[in-house]
Amino acid sequence: MSDVSELVNDSQVYRTLLESTKAIPWKIDWVSKKFVYIGPQIEALLGWSPESWVGVEDWAMRMHPEDREYVVNFCVTQSQAGVDHEADYRALTKDNGYVWIRDVVHVVRNGGGEVEALIGFMFDISERKKTEDQLLSLQKELEVLSFKDGLTSIANRRRFDSSFELEWERARREGQPLSLMLFDVDFFKQYNDLYGHIQGDKCLIAIAQTLSLALDGPRDLVARYGGEEFAVLLPEADAEVARKVADRCQRLIKKKSIVHALSPHDHRVTVSIGVGSVVPGALEKSTDFIKAVDLQLYAAKHNGRHRIEYVQLDGVACTSAVKSGEAQTTTSHS
Ligand code: GH3
Ligand code: MG
Ligand code: MG
Repeated sequence: MSDVSELVNDSQVYRTLLESTKAIPWKIDWVSKKFVYIGPQIEALLGWSPESWVGVEDWAMRMHPEDREYVVNFCVTQSQAGVDHEADYRALTKDNGYVWIRDVVHVVRNGGGEVEALIGFMFDISERKKTEDQLLSLQKELEVLSFKDGLTSIANRRRFDSSFELEWERARREGQPLSLMLFDVDFFKQYNDLYGHIQGDKCLIAIAQTLSLALDGPRDLVARYGGEEFAVLLPEADAEVARKVADRCQRLIKKKSIVHALSPHDHRVTVSIGVGSVVPGALEKSTDFIKAVDLQLYAAKHNGRHRIEYVQLDGVACTSAVKSGEAQTTTSHS
């Protein structure tokens, strides 16, 4: 076999190989910006015949409008710089659909080092994109799930912690008040013992729903704080607003009228509430504010349950109030 026929044979082999793979080969002449070649597989994938790919403008126009500017600019810049590159985009099909494509581009230079042509492969990556999209939506679902309490479907502790930190910082930045209420169901161990754990769960769900109904601010948040404990965050609410919301919560729970034969309060399920309001200053810590509100909850328990205890902290007093218990407190019970 002569060298020439070997070469011819080789190029036939290459051609057969190129045209039988799933990757679609192409070549563009750099000076004229015209397609020198595009694999016939392109027609099966996109519906456009190989002959219809004349110049780079055909490639650009057969691209999703949202992808076009970025991809064309990127590929032109890389090619001018003589850098091999790849780009993902949605290619337009003849019947007006889109297929996700990965274009892998190699820059060919002549002896003098100047760019002579671009050669590349187009890969159909729609399956991969589909999997990626599915993964993304699963991830979003998981995110929602992990911010939601499994039993009551309200926000969980994790969500509360992150919202609380954000709102604290925001209130401090904007010089706005922030209020927090901590709830604990009274005599709940006895309720469980008397009615069983499943009934206990139902009771917690009912309380969570009731608290959700009591809120109306767009950024108000009710969360399951612990086992039979709930937290309500009231951004931009001062002591007066917080007092009204706490009263409303207690009233609505009373209205629910969940029977608890061992409760001294009208044989109904009740809650104790600690409420705090603050305009966060520059110095104190958000955790000290939570501690101060928790102390009020503790006081509500200590003072007989089915009560609301309030504390109003100015920015400076926050830390010292927790330490000394000197913050201004008031009590209410119904
Ligand atoms: P207090 O009035 O002082 O708050 O008394 P308590 O009985 O409510 O408080 P204690 O901390 O002694 O008991 C809390 C009970 O809450 C015990 C626990 O079994 C119950 N509990 C916590 N989480 C859940 C839950 O998810 N479902 C049910 N059914 N019970 C729970
Ligand atoms: Mg408790
Ligand atoms: Mg309790």
